[in-house]
Amino acid sequence: MNERRIAIKKSRALPEASAGEFSQWLQHTRSAQQARDIGADVPCNECNACCRSSMFIHIRADEIRSLNRIPKQLLFPVPGLAKGHRLMGYDDKGRCPMLVDDRCSIYEDRPQTCRDYDCRIFAATGITLDEKVQAGISAQAKAWRFTYAGDANRLEHEAVRAAAMFLKQNAKLFPPQVLPLNPVQLALTALKVYTVFHKLMEPGSSANSSDTGIVEAIMAAMDQFDGVPAVKAESAETEKPRFAAGPHHGRAAAEPAAGPAQRRRHRHV
Ligand code: SF4
Ligand code: SF4
Repeated sequence: MNERRIAIKKSRALPEASAGEFSQWLQHTRSAQQARDIGADVPCNECNACCRSSMFIHIRADEIRSLNRIPKQLLFPVPGLAKGHRLMGYDDKGRCPMLVDDRCSIYEDRPQTCRDYDCRIFAATGITLDEKVQAGISAQAKAWRFTYAGDANRLEHEAVRAAAMFLKQNAKLFPPQVLPLNPVQLALTALKVYTVFHKLMEPGSSANSSDTGIVEAIMAAMDQFDGVPAVKAESAETEKPRFAAGPHHGRAAAEPAAGPAQRRRHRHV
């Protein structure tokens, strides 16, 4: 693709779209992170950008219906995960092979990863994607507009953005491997720990506002959210990845191409 086309792609702006009331969305998304099968409820309409964004889709070993619908030659083992977990890659144009005529051909049986993906996490946190690789998702993320039931809900959104910014700018303050590197997981981590910043924003807050104090509070918030120590939480994530899911057409939160030999990319996590 030449530079001009990339530039056009980058600047393409979609009409504003309603992302829903912020605090309701936040509560649902945090619950979905902790539960296994809640899924997102994204008003994607005709968008299927997630299915065209060079993402690997993780399919759990117990997702029998999905595994039965996807040709075995499109599935390969997930490094570091137990036997039975599978990844599905994408074609030369970054499209999921299950996307047929711009629709998910296994919609009723799409993987949980696809059901979970919610590009509103980028609108909520301000975390950005690589527009050269995921221009479609990026454009949709910029179009979302949250509403707020009141000032308290606006403050909650400010706390989420503050959490995301702190995580982005201060990764070096954390022990190795505690913070995820990819944008999806980083955004989801901000949703987990935003409470730390929410407390700091309370009038007369006595919370420790030094960087060290904030890092400690974030680690504790991660422990509390995941139910395991933060350092272990990273390894747990490796064993049982949670993907920010995809479009209703199913898609997973993928990670930008990192491309192994087969030219498939990493979908998420
Ligand atoms: S979740 Fe995926 S399909 Fe739905 S709006 Fe976002 S980018 Fe489009
Ligand atoms: S919903 Fe999932 S399985 Fe279906 S086309 Fe999109 S990425 Fe592929």
